Amino acid sequence: MTYRDEVIYLDAAATSPVRREAIEAMFPYLTGAFGNPSSQHSLGEQAARALDESRQAIAEVVGARPEEVIFTSGGTEADNLALKGIALARRAADPQRNRLLVSAIEHPAVLESAQYLRRVHGFEVVELPVDAEGFVDEQRCAKELGPAAAVLSVMYANNEIGTVQNVPGLSALAAQRGVPMHTDAVQAAGWLPLDIRELGVQAMSLSGHKFGAPKGIGALVLSSRTVAEPLIHGGGQQAGLRSGTENVAFAVAFATALRLAESERVEAAARVSALRDGFIRSVLDRVPGAQLTGPSSRSRLPSVASFCFSGTHGETVLLELERRSVICSSGSACAAGSSEPSAVLLALGLSPELAQTAVRFSFPGSVTAQDLGAAADAVVAAVTALGRFRGGAAADR
Ligand code: PLP
Repeated sequence: MTYRDEVIYLDAAATSPVRREAIEAMFPYLTGAFGNPSSQHSLGEQAARALDESRQAIAEVVGARPEEVIFTSGGTEADNLALKGIALARRAADPQRNRLLVSAIEHPAVLESAQYLRRVHGFEVVELPVDAEGFVDEQRCAKELGPAAAVLSVMYANNEIGTVQNVPGLSALAAQRGVPMHTDAVQAAGWLPLDIRELGVQAMSLSGHKFGAPKGIGALVLSSRTVAEPLIHGGGQQAGLRSGTENVAFAVAFATALRLAESERVEAAARVSALRDGFIRSVLDRVPGAQLTGPSSRSRLPSVASFCFSGTHGETVLLELERRSVICSSGSACAAGSSEPSAVLLALGLSPELAQTAVRFSFPGSVTAQDLGAAADAVVAAVTALGRFRGGAAADR
């Protein structure tokens, strides 16, 4: 089945298909040019060259030097390396740096890394609260950035509600106190500018499968002035920061897809933002009780619109939508399968009951007005069908 023919895929924040250009670019490195980049013969040199060129291409997009791009197995590993690597190195250099600052709506890859550092290494973890739209409380952040702070981690764009944080503002606060800042830019790639100099961050996580590279490849962009302890020890590849034979083919695909996503970014962001706003208006106007989560207007990721449909259950709405050929998500993909209310929505101040009714629509760059018109119709039909069912069931009792 090719999803395009069968369904309207509105779950791009979970993953996206691999772009044809990325497949074509990586194909030679899976077949004839299969060398190990650490090998000293010509096949190895060819692979090492491809890796270097991929780093160079990524570095250009993110405003870094090629050696500041560390390939990982994905966004999760990049987040782990940033949090654990920087915190452990920072405290080793200055034992009073024992406090981690993370926003309350980080991806579990950041939150669980912070909790691991607390449990196993005795760090203190401060979860910075957010307001009702998901924005970090900057005054509180400034207050917590004292001499004990080892690292600040605030995501660029939230995967569930699309809130885009003021990363340059937060990084400026951190810089004043000499605290390195990491940002999880996994959802931002392809939609927002990724230049780490403009963002003012020392570390930034990316994940290939969110912008048309395969799953299982990511990168941590880490300023060469920021010291980090490696998590994976071995043969010393990637300057000892991430041992293991590099996945050359996927690195090539990652660089190809990122370069393409960046070249299309400005046009895609403007086009999809306009479609998103029309979709939001349509759903709010036509579905009684629908409530938008995340920012109402300013600083919303172009590709995300999420709602609570009070009186329903998010997973039931999802099934009703899939019956109508619309694929979306009831929360972050990583939390799917658990019926716990989303921690992100609770952090906004939503009740657990309302949080259970959340549905997230996330748009691929190829989305059309026709797709979103049909999706809005499907939402109206799905929520109406559920209301009718509930009403009927109540009448029967
Ligand atoms: N960070 C954010 C914001 C994400 O949305 C995701 C994936 O959904 C990740 C990190 C994890 O990335 P990966 O799936 O490459 O491990």
